[in-house]
Amino acid sequence: MNNITHFINGQITAASERNAPVYNPATGEQTGVVSLAPASLVEEAIANAKEAFEEWSKVTPLNRVRILFKFKMLLEERMDELAEAITKEHGKVFEDAKGEIIRGMEVVEFACGIPSALKGEITEQVGRDVDAYSVNQPLGVVAGISPFNFPAMVPMWMWPVAIACGNTFVMKPSEKDPTATLMVAEWLKECGLPDGVLNIVNGDKEAVDVLLTHPDIQAVSFVGSTPIAEYIYSTASAHGKRVQALGGAKNHMIVMPDADIDGAVNALMGAAFGSAGERCMAISVAVAVGDIADELVDKLAAKTKELKIGNGINRGLDMGPLVTKEHHAKVKGYVDLGVEEGAKLVVDGRDVKVDGGENGYFLGGCLFDNVTTDMKIYQEEIFGPVLCVVRVEDYATAAKMINDHEYGNGTSIFTRSGAVARKFAHDIQVGMVGVNVPIPVPMAFHAFGGWKRSLFGSNHVHGPEGVRFYTKRKAVTMRWPEGDLDAEFVMPTMK
Ligand code: NAD
Repeated sequence: MNNITHFINGQITAASERNAPVYNPATGEQTGVVSLAPASLVEEAIANAKEAFEEWSKVTPLNRVRILFKFKMLLEERMDELAEAITKEHGKVFEDAKGEIIRGMEVVEFACGIPSALKGEITEQVGRDVDAYSVNQPLGVVAGISPFNFPAMVPMWMWPVAIACGNTFVMKPSEKDPTATLMVAEWLKECGLPDGVLNIVNGDKEAVDVLLTHPDIQAVSFVGSTPIAEYIYSTASAHGKRVQALGGAKNHMIVMPDADIDGAVNALMGAAFGSAGERCMAISVAVAVGDIADELVDKLAAKTKELKIGNGINRGLDMGPLVTKEHHAKVKGYVDLGVEEGAKLVVDGRDVKVDGGENGYFLGGCLFDNVTTDMKIYQEEIFGPVLCVVRVEDYATAAKMINDHEYGNGTSIFTRSGAVARKFAHDIQVGMVGVNVPIPVPMAFHAFGGWKRSLFGSNHVHGPEGVRFYTKRKAVTMRWPEGDLDAEFVMPTMK
């Protein structure tokens, strides 16, 4: 049984009094106990991070990123070890766990370029013998709170950019799969990261509430469900902090009548069922436009029935289990609800059998046809292997549907028409858009974030917006007069 505690000031701590069980979702076995930090321990982590900031903020950006370069090399060497730890707590298949590590590592690689990204601006001679320049300085101690579905990647959207900019960090991972972040923190220490620069506190609401209200926390990055994102945003901003809070999603993919249907079907299979649909960029609604709907549904049904499902630690599988027993029950409940609401359940994955997985939280791929916008299975985020097909007459109805939805994280269109694709990319009210690309996740050197109720706050994560979020800008106006300065009683204007 793993005893999973915290990492504060470069040390793994003793266990806390309160704790929660951690399971292997493929077997249903309890594999660990995670400590839940009391408020006093979170305060201790913040105090250590505050002390570490004094020195870390003075380290030159080049020397800061030399540690990240070493960490990147170590991550490549130990990727399999980290991927296995993710699979054992989250359930996603091993290859997919490696994929998430690589996408996180790309943010580390972006952060390795911080000496360039931090550069300010200068204008000589804004007035006679007066120069002006702006610099980007770190904020101080910043915090991150992450969801269960990407236990390595989502924290890596946050801390690499933050610490490269000179901040120190307190991270609160998901209590459902906490091991990956602790491993990463220990590896960073091995690479030379000074104690106190990255602290990990495991915990629940009690720990989070300290991060949202403590006067020494300057900014909070959150990724998780919309109700909690909204709470994080309102509470932390009411306490004077910068906040970026990324929430839930319901991502649509439009399939136009002129699309390559086989290509669209393959794209939908990966986008809907990869990681058992537990991705904020998963496609959960396929919008079939015009007379291709029957062909699309038939081809999707055949492939959904063929999904290779099993314990993700074994190689060559498409899909593992859901993360917890409770989440399994919730997703299965949505499938029951869809049937009650009158949608046609074309493929029913509720009774899937997996060899050796009798106690695991497995759900087979589920495919609904004839879903309508008044159904709860259309409106709400299910976060499981459930794909809903909505049939519409034309492009305009499909686009309006997407624009009317409360979420606006990702969307895509499959078409051979440049004109329709261009119109879609320009008009659609969603933050991340794909054209013949099902999951349009921006690369690390761009920024990731949705619109509407998929993001609270004004900055997306990583890329230049991440640097902006984790720095404050200072504008300096400077002159070195050779003679005396006259008193000026009117607004000084530059002469
Ligand atoms: P969650 O909102 O339940 O938990 C996220 C974090 O918030 C965890 O660390 C958790 O401990 C903490 N938390 C939970 N309840 C809290 C409370 N009452 N007060 C304070 N903190 C609390 O989300 P989850 O189930 O772990 O993750 C799945 C959700 O995350 C989905 O909705 C998914 O769409 C979303 N997500 C969004 C993105 C994005 O980029 N927009 C990315 C990944 C996941």
